[in-house]
Amino acid sequence: MAPIRLGIIGCGIAANKLHWPALQKLKEQFEVTMVCNHTEPKAKTFAQRVGDVPYVLQYEQLIEDPKVEAVSIMLPVELNYQVTKAALKAGKHVMLEKPLAVDTGQGKSLLDLTNASDKICMVAENFRYRPVYQTVRQLLEEKRLGRVYSMQWNVFNKITADNPYANTSWRINHKYEGGFVTDAGVHNIAVIRDLFGDITQGFAQSQSVNPKIGAIDQLQFLFKTHQNIHGQLNLNYSSTGCNENRLLISGSAGSLEIHHNRITISDNKGGKQTFTDDHDDGGYAAQYFDFYNAIRHDQPVKSSFYEGLMDLQTILSALQAAKGGRVIAFH
Ligand code: NAP
Repeated sequence: MAPIRLGIIGCGIAANKLHWPALQKLKEQFEVTMVCNHTEPKAKTFAQRVGDVPYVLQYEQLIEDPKVEAVSIMLPVELNYQVTKAALKAGKHVMLEKPLAVDTGQGKSLLDLTNASDKICMVAENFRYRPVYQTVRQLLEEKRLGRVYSMQWNVFNKITADNPYANTSWRINHKYEGGFVTDAGVHNIAVIRDLFGDITQGFAQSQSVNPKIGAIDQLQFLFKTHQNIHGQLNLNYSSTGCNENRLLISGSAGSLEIHHNRITISDNKGGKQTFTDDHDDGGYAAQYFDFYNAIRHDQPVKSSFYEGLMDLQTILSALQAAKGGRVIAFH
């Protein structure tokens, strides 16, 4: 079957560091036929990098081009709605980077557009495809922890001015609530929802420690999920002295700890088992493979616009709960 003729819109960090390495593993599935960036040096450099393909500076030109069958959109989040709408109107399949939109209103409009279209739309939420969380899912389904009752997730990072992500003006002058808490936190919400069900109620606190990286850089979120699992998500992007990504899941037969890519199960009898996946590429290739199977083989995508909207709505509801300092019902 012919590879999908892919147009890439936005030639920044995600395109260069995350999507292109994944696409290189999928040469039979995708051929990049055109790229777009509104500033020429980035467009030109990326076009050369991906095989000397044509580049344009206006996304409308790429979207209208018959050489392009599907688009991958990696732009400042505030452009997601208008570019996706234009791409669907032009009859292109869409892979759109997370978070889905700047707010739930635009997110719902995007969902309506995709529901009215026969084109494939997916949110590039790579955490849904990360091997480490697939392994966790399998272990939970095998009941290795017995009945799961709680989870705690600590994400402690220090984002400073020299961090490449902090050098993208749209992240610092963000047009969506929550700054890094939303842009990065949707990843954690996607995993929590996938493993434990929708969040039904929660309480949260937020604050800003370093205003140079956006309006908010800390969120502590206490919640309950549809499966009645009690959870806590601590996001801290101005951490000092500690760099940690640790998820602890507790059940009646033992506990499971995920520290970066390493999973450790400790059972009630003192047994310990560790799994490390050194090949976890972040799930980017699997995400593209899902997009391919949906377009060429009519399969449903795992990371639909609906899931992207629910992830966004959840993190924004947590931020809303933090503002009001009260418990709110989520769904
Ligand atoms: P970025 O480096 O700023 O890339 C965005 C690119 O879009 C820049 O090259 C920018 O050019 C270009 N651009 C801006 N306005 C444009 C327009 N109207 N038309 C065409 N090009 C335009 O940001 P990023 O880090 O790649 O993030 C892009 C998206 O990917 C965001 O949704 C982000 O949340 C997501 N992302 C996801 C992950 C993940 O792990 N899944 C990781 C990183 C980013 P200039 O810089 O010249 O203005």
